[in-house]
Amino acid sequence: MAEKQYLFTPGPTPVPPQVLEAMSRPIIHHRSSDFRAILESCLARLKSVYRTEGDVLLYTASGTGGMESAISNLTRPGDRVAVVSAGHFGERWAGMAKNFGCQVDELVYEWGESPAAEDLTQFLREKGGAKVVFLTHSETSTGVVADVEGLAAAAKDAGALVVVDAVSSLGAVPLETDAWGLDSVISGSQKALMTPPGLATVSVSASAWETIQKEAPCRYYFDWARTRYAQESFDPSFTPAVSIVVGLDVALGILVEEGLEHAFERHLRLGRACRAGVKAMGLELFSPDDDRSAVVTAINAPDGIDSGELVQTLRDRHGIVLAPGQGPLKGKIFRIGHIGYYDVFDITTALAGVELVLAELGADLERGVAITAALEAFEHSRV
Ligand code: PMP
Repeated sequence: MAEKQYLFTPGPTPVPPQVLEAMSRPIIHHRSSDFRAILESCLARLKSVYRTEGDVLLYTASGTGGMESAISNLTRPGDRVAVVSAGHFGERWAGMAKNFGCQVDELVYEWGESPAAEDLTQFLREKGGAKVVFLTHSETSTGVVADVEGLAAAAKDAGALVVVDAVSSLGAVPLETDAWGLDSVISGSQKALMTPPGLATVSVSASAWETIQKEAPCRYYFDWARTRYAQESFDPSFTPAVSIVVGLDVALGILVEEGLEHAFERHLRLGRACRAGVKAMGLELFSPDDDRSAVVTAINAPDGIDSGELVQTLRDRHGIVLAPGQGPLKGKIFRIGHIGYYDVFDITTALAGVELVLAELGADLERGVAITAALEAFEHSRV
């Protein structure tokens, strides 16, 4: 059994030591001046990472809780909404909206396809519009990062509000909440924000506040208006996960200090390095071979090899934790995450492990070239 763990999943992700240290300090009370100062700083930093002048609400919940808050605040049973779905998390939007009684029109793509703005324009025209369009920025199950700017413009042209799942993308790849007209963007602490799981972040635009569903609301904990009111005085309505908020503030400080543009460039280069290494050993990419795909690299398992067995063996024998395929891709692909606290040597470790175990499992591979290819791609791709 391996003792040391290398976490290369697209969430949760490794947490920097400064964040762990801050979280190990004695617990402070959530209605104290100490906590209020931290919450104020954390919310200001979140706004800069979101690139918004609007509100960003913080919930003690996983990312899915943040997604649910968007549905329960913006829709009522019977509303027509549209979902663009090209994988596991698009399907989650659709399932959730149906559970809340919405009439859901789904623009469905095969898992792994990249949604196109023109398709959405046509779809909304045919369906006669929608109150809200739900999008997924980074479809973590396939590695595709969608053109949210284009998709949002198509939805806006049709008069819809735009809600974006950016759980695995915020802080890793460019996302402009205000400039792209995004009405609500949801993220989570445990991905590119380099913090343990437990917090959901939710932006709310001025148009979203105007459309908020006020009659007979089916929500309490996730009531956006209540949360905004409480956050105005940094006095949370309910007991937040105090230690994780402390950690998130430190992590956001690291991100802001690095500079968002620099973080985006680092992720782009990590994506290039990972894809170059994978291709050099003769494996086939499942996720697109393009720079937008900078969150997670999805790779087809070689013929005759179950990707689940590869992932399990890597974890059990070497402590290297990758993500298996989900849904229809179970057994077929494996995924290397590279969001958050990663550098190129994390990529080379993951590739070395994959090469070793695939060779043991009998794959026909080019040995000894992946790491050089990855390092070269990283070095030669300063933007
Ligand atoms: N959306 C995306 C794109 C995700 O990657 C995830 C987590 N893997 C979620 C939503 C759900 O987040 P959580 O597990 O924190 O509820």
